[in-house]
This record gives sequence, C-alpha cells and structure tokens, in this order.
Amino acid sequence: MTETITFRQEVLNLLHASEGNPINFCIQCGTCSGTCPVAGFMDHSPRQIIAMINAGMKEEVMNSNTFWYCASCYHCTVRCPQEINITGLMYAMKRYSIWKGKYKEGLIGPTFSEAFVKMIVRTGRSFEPVLAPSYIFSFNMRGFLQEVQNATELMLKGRLPLLPARIKRLEKFRSVIGRIIPMGGLE
Ligand code: SF4
Ligand code: SF4
Repeated sequence: MTETITFRQEVLNLLHASEGNPINFCIQCGTCSGTCPVAGFMDHSPRQIIAMINAGMKEEVMNSNTFWYCASCYHCTVRCPQEINITGLMYAMKRYSIWKGKYKEGLIGPTFSEAFVKMIVRTGRSFEPVLAPSYIFSFNMRGFLQEVQNATELMLKGRLPLLPARIKRLEKFRSVIGRIIPMGGLE
C-alpha cells in the first residue's frame, strides 16, 4: 500500500540532516519574528510560517514570500529558545519551492536562484551578465540605467569579463553539486 506523505512530513524530511530540533518543537514564542530584520516585508513572520507548516497549510506557505525574503542573517536561529534551525528551514523551503516549481508570482528570488544554479552547473562560476536579466527589469528606469552604467564601467576597467570563465575539473564539480541539489530540469 502506498503511503501518502504530508506536507509537514516532507518539510521535516528536508530538515532531517540539519542541525537543531524539528519544527514541531516550536512553542510559538515569537522570538524569531521579533528578531528578524526583514519580518516587516514578509507576508508571514517566521513564527507564523512555522505554525502554518505544522498545520499543513501547503498552498498558503507556497504562496508566501517569507522564505524568499529571508536574508540568512541567523539572528532567529541563535535566539530560538527551542534551538530550531529557522534559517535552515528558510533555505529548505526555497529548495522545495524550486523543486516543485511553485512560488508566488512576481518574486525575483526564484528566477535569480534558478539562473544562478544553472550558471554554476554549466561553468562552475557565477557570471553577472547572465544573472542580471533575472532582476534588472524589476528596477525603475533610474535604477536600471544605473546598473547598466556600473556594468559598462566595470567592463571598461576589465573588472567584468565579456564571457564566462569555466573552472578546471568541471565534471568533478558537477558530480559534487549533483549530490547536494536536485538537478532535474536544470540543464
Ligand atoms: S523563536 Fe523558536 S520557538 Fe519561538 S516561535 Fe520562533 S521557532 Fe518557535
Ligand atoms: S535568518 Fe532569515 S528569518 Fe531568520 S532573522 Fe534572519 S532574515 Fe529573518
């Protein structure tokens, strides 16, 4: 008989090997939300998103910008009285979201992350001109022109190459990457 795994269990599995206690240890004290420097920009605070995962509210969680706005500062994680790795959870939710291809529309994070992973799988290095289209069009005209001007100046000074460089032993690098991220559909 096939067992159906719940959303909460999927998230717990994603965090299985991470440090810290499982998210069902959360006592909803709100320390993480009170500590988070970007909570004001999130659809749901870290405390709320944990409560929603524990309640199995998959659609609402997947449509939240919370984990995409996380700045990975680790403030919440070091202050959590239950020693939950909240930052690890935010990373895990980003991976889960990309894996499932489900995220809130209009966010820069998923497009940027996907472009970044494709880039490093292909060459082993980050290359700004390939990443820029994933976010530059969300800027206003002034910001857009400023970015173009900065990039042009960097290129003229030889600080931004015209073509991406490839690392040596790329195949070895890919085999390492293949073990730590889901590769489906990235090439
Ligand atoms: S600080 Fe820890 S225990 Fe408190 S709400 Fe956040 S995750 Fe839950
Ligand atoms: S790691 Fe993320 S969720 Fe935690 S306090 Fe920093 S920005 Fe907020």
